[in-house]
Amino acid sequence: MGLVEGKVAIVTGGTRGIGYTIVKRFLEEGAQVALCGSRQETVDAALAKLAEEGFTDNVMGIAPQLKDADSVAQAFAKVVDRFGKIDVLCNNAGVSSRTPLVDYTVDEFEGVIDINVIAPFVCSQAAVRIMKDQGNGGAIINTSSMVGKHGQPSGSAYPTSKFAINGLTLSLARELAPFKIRVNAVAPGVTHTDMVDALPDSVIKPLIESIPLGRMGEPEDIANAFIFLASDLSDYISGAVLPVDGLSRP
Ligand code: NAD
Repeated sequence: MGLVEGKVAIVTGGTRGIGYTIVKRFLEEGAQVALCGSRQETVDAALAKLAEEGFTDNVMGIAPQLKDADSVAQAFAKVVDRFGKIDVLCNNAGVSSRTPLVDYTVDEFEGVIDINVIAPFVCSQAAVRIMKDQGNGGAIINTSSMVGKHGQPSGSAYPTSKFAINGLTLSLARELAPFKIRVNAVAPGVTHTDMVDALPDSVIKPLIESIPLGRMGEPEDIANAFIFLASDLSDYISGAVLPVDGLSRP
């Protein structure tokens, strides 16, 4: 029996990177999954890739505008139509930023906050309306980052957004505890995705050498934390921000 057998999970940013691996791990552990992406074409491409890897059942695609409450509510209603309920919401979609302070425009700063903070708020609201009606509790898992504790030397919108998601996590955990809806976050360190693969060796090598556990995180490391926090194994855990970073903390 899988660790999340019989649960229905929504994963935002499920088309690639960490989110795609979260989708796969949930399917492997017996969940039904709604893979959520920004455009129907990328969602279809991700579903086709999953099918190539042998995952054809128990998965559907949705592509709501994550900042638009109506669009998200309609997409989540489709998930309930298809799978009958929603147990788990993984707010994983995110954008990073490297812009120095003096070069930021307000629009660019807001764009990061929109996807990393406002979208998880909108999706949590839509999911919780459904979870409360169901009356069986639920789990929300947000993607934070190690920079949500320590900051970073440029692209301040990104750590700002991750500090904010930690605040949302702790606050919603308190607000939703009476309904047995648990809210936690996972805080990855540097994780091996396409973005990291594109960096030159001169950047990657010193980075890895600075990680006490001696390697970069793999998407599976992060996805496994999501599985744990979605599963009944973590039934008594809420309001936690779990570092998954090989101890790469200053
Ligand atoms: P990625 O760029 O590979 O994937 C990001 C996902 O978010 C994609 O599926 C993308 O479609 C989605 N997304 C981006 N903008 C969107 C929008 N406007 N609407 C809907 N979806 C949108 O990145 P990743 O490395 O897999 O990151 C996933 C999460 O992990 C993010 O929240 C990121 O901040 C966090 N994180 C990543 C690392 C790392 O080293 N990779 C470290 C710490 C935290």
